[in-house]
Amino acid sequence: MNWEKQSISFIHKTSFSGIKHTANLLQHSMHQLQILAEADATILLKIIDESSAKIESSTGKTFRDILINPAPSGELLNTCEERFIIWENIPSDEKYELDEILDSFSSVVIICLNELNNNSLLLIGWNQPQHWNDSFTEFISTVTLRMNELLWQSTIQFNYENVFSRFTAILQTISQAVIFIDNSGLMGWVNPKAASLLDLKSSGEIAPAVLAASMAQLRNRTTNSKEINIKAAQLFMTPDGAIKDWTWHFPEPGNIILNVSCAPIISEHLKGRLWMFEDITPIYIANEKLQALNIKLKQETERADSENRAKSEFLANMSHEIRTPMNAVIGMASLLHHTPLNKEQNEFVETIRVSGGTLVTLINDILDFSKIQSGNLNLESSPFPLESVVEETLDILSINANQKQLELLYFIEPDVPAGIIGDVTRLRQVLLNLVSNGIKFTDKGEVYIYVRLAEKLPGNQVKIEFLVRDSGIGIAADKHDKLFQNFSQLDSSITRQYGGTGLGLAISKMLVQLMGGEIWLDSTQKKGSAFRFTIVSSISNYIIPYDMEMIKKKIAGRNLKAMLICNNVLQLQVLRKQFDLWGITTDIFDDVNDALAVLPDINYDLAFFDFDMGVFKGMQFVKEINLRTKNKQVPTILFSTPEATLNLSEEEKACFNAICNKPLKYNKLGEIISNVILQKEESSKAEIVKRQEIIPIGSTIFPLEILVAEDNMINRVVIKKVLSTLGYSVDLVTNGLEAVEAAKHKHYNLVFMDMQMPVMDGLQAAKIICENKLPNTVLIALTANSSPEDKLLCEQAGMEDFLQKPITIDDVKNKINAWGPIIQERMRLLSVQLLS
Ligand code: ADP
Repeated sequence: MNWEKQSISFIHKTSFSGIKHTANLLQHSMHQLQILAEADATILLKIIDESSAKIESSTGKTFRDILINPAPSGELLNTCEERFIIWENIPSDEKYELDEILDSFSSVVIICLNELNNNSLLLIGWNQPQHWNDSFTEFISTVTLRMNELLWQSTIQFNYENVFSRFTAILQTISQAVIFIDNSGLMGWVNPKAASLLDLKSSGEIAPAVLAASMAQLRNRTTNSKEINIKAAQLFMTPDGAIKDWTWHFPEPGNIILNVSCAPIISEHLKGRLWMFEDITPIYIANEKLQALNIKLKQETERADSENRAKSEFLANMSHEIRTPMNAVIGMASLLHHTPLNKEQNEFVETIRVSGGTLVTLINDILDFSKIQSGNLNLESSPFPLESVVEETLDILSINANQKQLELLYFIEPDVPAGIIGDVTRLRQVLLNLVSNGIKFTDKGEVYIYVRLAEKLPGNQVKIEFLVRDSGIGIAADKHDKLFQNFSQLDSSITRQYGGTGLGLAISKMLVQLMGGEIWLDSTQKKGSAFRFTIVSSISNYIIPYDMEMIKKKIAGRNLKAMLICNNVLQLQVLRKQFDLWGITTDIFDDVNDALAVLPDINYDLAFFDFDMGVFKGMQFVKEINLRTKNKQVPTILFSTPEATLNLSEEEKACFNAICNKPLKYNKLGEIISNVILQKEESSKAEIVKRQEIIPIGSTIFPLEILVAEDNMINRVVIKKVLSTLGYSVDLVTNGLEAVEAAKHKHYNLVFMDMQMPVMDGLQAAKIICENKLPNTVLIALTANSSPEDKLLCEQAGMEDFLQKPITIDDVKNKINAWGPIIQERMRLLSVQLLS
C-alpha cells in the first residue's frame, strides 16, 4: 500500500465544509479512513473517566451502545499523551470489555483526538494481521493531525455560527437602530430598525457612501441640526471619540426624540464606529413634564411656605399685640381686686382675672407656636445647671401640686453632666408643660421627673433623656398618635374639665426637635402616663458639679443608717437611691406603725419623714420616736409642704432638727443631713432650722419697687417666683415699650431689663428710661451673652449691672443685697438734696 498517497487522499477527502455537526464530520472522516486504510472497522470512543469510555460511533462494524471499561486504563490513557499507539500483538490476558473489542481484530491503531472538548480515542481495526512500516506510521501521524485540525476548525466555525446567529437575532429584534461604519470605507452595516430610520431598502451590509449620505440626511432633518453638526464634526475629528445621551429632535412625524450614542470599535482587524439610535420620545416628554411639574411644585411650595410664614408671623405679631392690652386688663383687675368691693363685684373681678389669665396662656401658646412655625425661634446657647432646671420646674408648679396633694419628685442619675450648654428657657418650658399636664391629669399620687444619660456622643456632646411620669388618668393607646398634633385635645369632656389649648405637646415636640431630640409616650388608660424626651447638647465645664463627695466626706466613716417614712412608695424609693449615693443605708416604711414597731430594736442615726402620715402628724411622731427609743434623741428631719410648715408654731418647729420643704432638693437636703448629723446638740437645732429656710430679704430690709421687662413667658414666671420667694411683689412687662410706659407712671428702684425683646429691645428702652430716671432707679440687664461688647453696650445705655441668664435665686438675692444699700443711700442723699 502506498501510504503516502493515502495520506494525501485522506487530506483531500476530509473537510468540514457543508457539514453542520461535529458528529457528521467525524463519521465522514472515519468512513474515509476505513476505506483508505483498508481497515475492517473504525470506532470512536469517548473517554468518560479514568476507567470507563463510551462508544460514540463506528464504521464497518456495529457495536452495542454500551459503556465499556477501557482498561488496562493506564496504558490506554497514556496513549493520549503519545497521540497514537499501534498494537500489533494485542494482549489478551485480562478480559475487559475493551479487550473483547480489541480481541475481535488482529491489528489495531488507536488515535487520540484531544481537540474535542473531552478526550476521545479513535480505534482503527483490521481482521487480518497487518505488517506496518515507517510510511504506515507517517500515514497514521497525518491522519491524527488532520483529524485534530478538522475538529479544531469545526469547533471554531460552529461557535462562530452560534454567536453570529445569536447576535443577528438580537440586532433584528431590538428596538434600537444599530449602524456600523467601517473606517476604511469598505463596509457599512445596519439592522432593520436602522434601515427603516435611514429610509434604506434593506438591512445588512450597505455601501458606506450610501450610509454616510443617509446619516447626513437624517442629521439635517433634525430641529437641532446646527448643534448636532458641530458636535458631529468634533466627534469625527477624534478617532477614539465617543458620545452618549445625545438627543436628536425630529419635527416629523409628530415630534420624535432620539437618544444617540456612538462608540469607536477598535480591534486589530476592524476599525470603525458603532452608532445606536433609540426612540425615547415618551420618556423624554414625560421627563419634561415632570421637570415642569417639579418647578411648579417648588414654586407652589415656596409660595405656600412664605404664605405660611407670613401667616405665622402675623399670628405672632397679633398675639403680641393682644398680650399687651391683656396684661393691662389683668393688671387692672388685680388692682381692682384689692379695692373695697362687695361680694358680687368681687366675683366679677375674679372672673375677669381668671379668664384673662387663661386668655394670656392661650396667647402665649399661640405666640410660641407661630414663632416656631415661622422659623423665628432661635435657641439660646449658654451653660446652665441641669439640676436647677428640674428643681425650678417643680418649684414653679409646687403650689398646684400641693393643692391636689400630689407629690413632686425627681431623680437625676449621677452620670448625667451637672451642666450643659443649651437653651434653659426652652428646656424648662417643655418640662413645665409635661409636669403641669401631669399635675392637671392626676388626682392621686405623684408626678416624677427622671433624668438619665442616654448616650455619649462625639465631641463632648451628650444625649440626655428626661422622663415625666404621672399616676393619673392615662391616655388610651389609640390616641397616642394624635397627641402631638397641633390643637389636638383628646376628649372634649376632659378639656372642659381640665382646660388647656391643645398646643402644649405640639410646642413641646417642636422645641424638643429643635434641641436635637425626640419625644414619645408610654401610657395606659387609668394607670398614668410616661412622657419621655431627649435633647442633644454639649457638656459645660463651667458649671461646677454639686459636690457629692463633700457630703460623703462629712459623714464618712459613720456608717449611718436612716429610717425613711412616707406614704408615697415612689418617693421612698427615690429617696433611698439618693441616700445610697451619699453612702447612708436606709430602711423605708410607708406605714408609720411599721416604722415605730422596729424602733426599740434598731438604732437609727436619722429619721426622715413626711409631715402627714395619717395617724401621726409631725410632732406627735417625734414624741412617739422618743418614747420608743427611750429618749435616745434620734435626729429628725421633717419634710412637708411650705403651707403646712407655715402653720407650724415655733414650739412645733423646734421639735425637729430640720425641716425641708417639698419639693425636695437634694443638694440642700444633703447639706442639711450632714449638718444635722454633725451638730446633734440641742443648741444647734434652731440654727439648722433657719439654715434651710430661705429668709426673705424682702420689703422689711430693702423695700424696693421692682419692674421686670422680659418677653419670654417662662422666664417671667421664674423671675416672678424668685422675687416673690425673696419677699417682693413685682410688675411684669413683656417688651421695652411697655417698660418705658410703666416707668413713666410709677417710680421703680430696680428694673430688670431683658436685652432681646420684640417691639422695643432692652437697650433702647433703657436709654429712654435713663433719660428721665432718678438716681435711686437702678437698671440691671438680663442677658444670655456677657461678652465685653455686650456689657459696654449696656453701660452706654445707662444700665449699671448685669444678671447672666439663667438666673438663680442666689444670683437675684446677691444683686438685691448689693444694690439694696446703695439704692437706700441714694434715696437718702436725694431727700437731703430735696430738703436743702
Ligand atoms: P393642653 O394645653 O390642652 O393640655 P396639650 O397639648 O398639653 O394641650 O395636651 C393635649 C391633650 O393631651 C390634653 O388635652 C389631654 O387630653 C392629653 N394629655 C396630655 N398630657 C396628659 C397626661 N399627662 N395625662 C393624660 N392626658 C394627657
